[in-house]
Amino acid sequence: MSDKFDLIIIGAGPAGMTAALYASRSGLKTCIVESGAPGGKLLKTFHIENYPGIKEMGGAELAMVMFDQALAFGAEYKAGEVVKVNKDKSVELLDGTILESNCVLLATGTKERMLNIPGEQENVGKGVSFCAVCDGAFFRGKDVVVIGGGNSALEEAGFLTQFVNKLYIVIRRDQFRAEEKFQREVEENEKIEIIREHVPLEVLSDGKVTGIVLKNVKTGKTQTVDCSGIFPYVGSDPISDCVKDLGVCNEHGYVIVDRNMETAVKGVYAAGDVVDKQLRQVVTAVGEGALVAQQAYKEVKEK
Ligand code: NAP
Repeated sequence: MSDKFDLIIIGAGPAGMTAALYASRSGLKTCIVESGAPGGKLLKTFHIENYPGIKEMGGAELAMVMFDQALAFGAEYKAGEVVKVNKDKSVELLDGTILESNCVLLATGTKERMLNIPGEQENVGKGVSFCAVCDGAFFRGKDVVVIGGGNSALEEAGFLTQFVNKLYIVIRRDQFRAEEKFQREVEENEKIEIIREHVPLEVLSDGKVTGIVLKNVKTGKTQTVDCSGIFPYVGSDPISDCVKDLGVCNEHGYVIVDRNMETAVKGVYAAGDVVDKQLRQVVTAVGEGALVAQQAYKEVKEK
């Protein structure tokens, strides 16, 4: 492909899709590159109830509406995995394609962290799942364990209780990290038992998950919880390998940007969960995506 784009957007989550909408609508030659399905973390979210203007909508449904709108003004969409962003704003894909651009937006989000305990990796798809929305229905009438006490863990635990017989939430401290609203919901849910101050040690299986071994962080005592499903929700790590060589990430891999979402490399921007910031929400991601489109527009017009 020899045509040069004005803006290449890597990642079709809320930040990337909003940037595509705004950039193409303002006349920029825009391309989104995405390696999976469009929607980002929305696809793994049961419902959204804190996006102004939409009282409640399924995550996947909101993703499809955003995607339609993102392409409505002429933005191109390419399926592919970006392996490198260069200083000259060219973008290299895994299949060897090189796309040229004036500006690049990294909107790749984050990837769920694994527990890194014995038995976990080999049981992914056999009872270990990182997506309650995708796999919850497989655990109808079964007992499951959710690991973690953040917003994701508690929100998805609540979702899972419509299917399961019993759900254990295991947290390593004596308190949650999640917002109080989610805490109240899980504490009031009769299907949920909270196991505090325990960490997971090992996933047990006989070809499918049969249980999990937990250790009390204070006493060191271990216990086994019988279960068919294990959902680790212990946070996530930024997907920023493709900009590693640009030196724009902090020590954890999150991308450092200025108030215009621009990195230290002129014309290379970041938006959404991959950015080093405080609040990771759909509403912040879309605002950042719009801002990047506006900055790219200014930059291209100045040229
Ligand atoms: P998070 O907020 O970082 O929470 C991770 C949880 O996992 C914490 O409870 C943490 O315990 C625990 N944990 C981490 N490593 C562990 C380990 N090795 N073993 C056991 N437990 C471990 O991650 P998140 O829930 O995925 O949320 C990520 C971001 O998305 C947050 O900014 C969150 O607010 C946002 N989010 C928002 C919504 C919403 O607004 N509806 C929904 C989902 C996510 P400690 O607390 O002890 O560290």
